[in-house]
This record gives sequence, C-alpha cells and structure tokens, in this order.
Amino acid sequence: MYFDTHVHLNSSPLYEDIDTYIEHALANGVNEMMVVGFDLETSRKAIEIANQYAFIYAAVGIGPNDCKETTDEDLNQIDEMLAQEKVIALGEVGLDYYWDEVPRAKQQEVFSKQIELAKKHNVPLVIHSRDALNDTYELLKAGQHYGIMHCYSGSYEMAQRFIDIGFYISLAGPVTFKNARVPKEVAQNINLDRLLIETDCPYLTPHPYRGKLNEPANVMYIAMEIAKLRNMEIEDVARITTFNAKRVLGIK
Ligand SMILES: [Zn+2]
Repeated sequence: MYFDTHVHLNSSPLYEDIDTYIEHALANGVNEMMVVGFDLETSRKAIEIANQYAFIYAAVGIGPNDCKETTDEDLNQIDEMLAQEKVIALGEVGLDYYWDEVPRAKQQEVFSKQIELAKKHNVPLVIHSRDALNDTYELLKAGQHYGIMHCYSGSYEMAQRFIDIGFYISLAGPVTFKNARVPKEVAQNINLDRLLIETDCPYLTPHPYRGKLNEPANVMYIAMEIAKLRNMEIEDVARITTFNAKRVLGIK
C-alpha cells in the first residue's frame, strides 16, 4: 500500500535492528521502501540491504554535510555503485547551508558532479536542501535532470518551480506538526501527480510520536495528514503516492 521513498535503515540505530523495523513496516502496509545513502559507507549498506529484500531499493550518493574530503576517486565509487541493479537513484545529494559544515563552494562542486553522474546513469536525483533552496534550484535548472525534492520544506510557489524543472515533492513528518502552516499549504495545493511521502527515519518523527525514534511504519501518519488536508481517503493518498514513486524511480 505505502511506498516510503526515504528511509535510513542503513544507519544507527535502525541498522542494528533492521529485521524488527522491516517487520513493523510490512505489518503496517509499507510494502516498498528506498534506503538512501549520504556517504560511501551508508551507500554501500543501502545496496547490501536492497540486495536482501525484493521490495527494498537503494539510492547512493555523497550528501552536502559529508563531502568535505570527497575526491574524484570517491565519486568513481558512486559511479560504480550506480551500475548495480537495485540502485535506482542518486542521493541524497544537494546543499545544506544550515549546518554549513562544508564550504559552500565544495558542496556545490560535489553536487554538480553528481548531477552529471545521475544523467550518465539515467537515474533520478534525491535532493537534500536545507536553507539553500535558491542555489539548489539554480544548480538543478542548469543540470537539466529530474528527481525528488526530499523532505521538502519550502513554499508552495517554490515547489511549483521545482515541479516545472522535473521534480517530485516528497513530504515527511513536519507536515503533521500542528503549527506547520507552510508544509500543510504545500500538501493541500500541490499537483497530486507530483506528490510523494517519506519518513526520513530515524529522523523527523511525525505527530503523534514526535520525540520518539522514527521508523518506516510511521509513513501512514504522513498519508493520513495529507488525506485530511485534501479531504481524500487515505487509501487514495497511498495508491497515488505509490504510483508516483514507481514512475519517478522507474520501477515496473
Ligand atoms: Zn535522508
């Protein structure tokens, strides 16, 4: 029923107890997931997990907070990983000016090189963008490729601009928070054909479990909130977002 498009079963503390979280997910109707890497190690683990379960897919990439020392040799490894069968996206990659742990010029360089790799392998990008939406938009527009805006937190107007250059908008836990006016506005107005749902677990736990550990089973709370905001049945939100996920990720 649900496709959780962004999980970190490849990192602590979910990785250590992965079978339990996969069981919970399946028991709660989450029958497909994409495990997303953010450095070489988590990318390798994403592939290892995807190779064990038919319904789990992998995305590989080096994210903006983990690219301080990234070399062309590291990017060659991402290039090689992208050739594997269960690797269906490049990410998460992008820009993060909130933490600002890596100089912006370095983030932009590593991001741009990975946009080229996604084009080479013809896989969608999974974009992490925090306090950097304008620069992210400019680099993506210049790169002329497509993909997913993961845990999108910008305005509806900006979402529309990303849609216009080939991106899907993925909503996570924050849409369920009581005072999250902007994400709720996006959920209400966005073109349904471009909407995805994700947990980004173990982070960003949705209401009513905010403050606890997040896991893929919780993706239903995001679907439930979108259904409420749009006056739809939750089954329809599940069906449409799953269909969209398979379309953008190229899953038959
Ligand atoms: Zn993530």
